[in-house]
Amino acid sequence: MSEDIPFDKSLDIAPDTADEVVPGVRRVMANNPGPFTFKGTISYILGRGKVAIVDPGPDDPAHIGALLDAVRGETVTHIFVTHTHRDHSPAVPAVKRETGATVYAEGPHRAARPLHICEHNPLDASADRDFAPDVALKDGEVVEGEGWTVQAVTTPGHTANHMAYAVKEKNLLFAGDHVMAWATSIVAPPDGAMSDYMASLAKLSKRNETLYLPGHGPAIEDAPRFVNYYILHRKAREASILHRLAKGASDIPTVVRAIYIGIDPRLTGAAGLSVLAHLEDLVARGVVATDGRPAIDGVFRLAQGR
Ligand SMILES: [Zn+2]
Repeated sequence: MSEDIPFDKSLDIAPDTADEVVPGVRRVMANNPGPFTFKGTISYILGRGKVAIVDPGPDDPAHIGALLDAVRGETVTHIFVTHTHRDHSPAVPAVKRETGATVYAEGPHRAARPLHICEHNPLDASADRDFAPDVALKDGEVVEGEGWTVQAVTTPGHTANHMAYAVKEKNLLFAGDHVMAWATSIVAPPDGAMSDYMASLAKLSKRNETLYLPGHGPAIEDAPRFVNYYILHRKAREASILHRLAKGASDIPTVVRAIYIGIDPRLTGAAGLSVLAHLEDLVARGVVATDGRPAIDGVFRLAQGR
């Protein structure tokens, strides 16, 4: 099918060992493999001599040690954070303490929307609520370092505060968890929002960077084509959900069973939240109806007149 994403799971690097992914950019992968992290969260080092670190990673002493080892003899001037999930930002305080670098990000963790009455946030454990940047960046803001120029690109959807970072000199983008080569990004309410996510994809599709360096998995070459696949994939998923509702499915578990065939059982909860994210968007657009606010245990139907 044309909307199938050409996933790339070829990532042959050892954890906590630095390698140069493209000239002038090194990476160190944390040893935190899992169904959401693939082989591990990847921290990047931009430049030589005076460098920036993108996403210091989880609060794991072995990873923090490996990252600091990789920059021994150099000066870390900047730390950029793509978003505040616990596998990306909790190493910031330790790396900042050791290096004195200034921390840049969109802002602290926040949900994409307020919690509904009686709703609990299933993602609470995944958020790093202690994080706060030294400098909050706005969309398009430019930060200059030694030999590199980074532009902040707000990309909400996976989290409300997700930010990608474009490197002008190298025509590349640190894509965080917004676009990855090994799997689709998780968009789960209330932290994530599908309408924001789709808008962020559309925004990236108009940019010129050809290489993406994501928070998990291998580098994405031919990034514009890949972003297009991502957009088609989401549209196809939306169409599958509408098809299931037309066939009489009315609850999220039934839709998940029908469209996520062969899914890793550890991801069923995330799949349910991803369907909820689509349904929230469809309800907001008047395509799908539900009673009250869209909820994980809600009853859904196609809106009248469709
Ligand atoms: Zn994440």
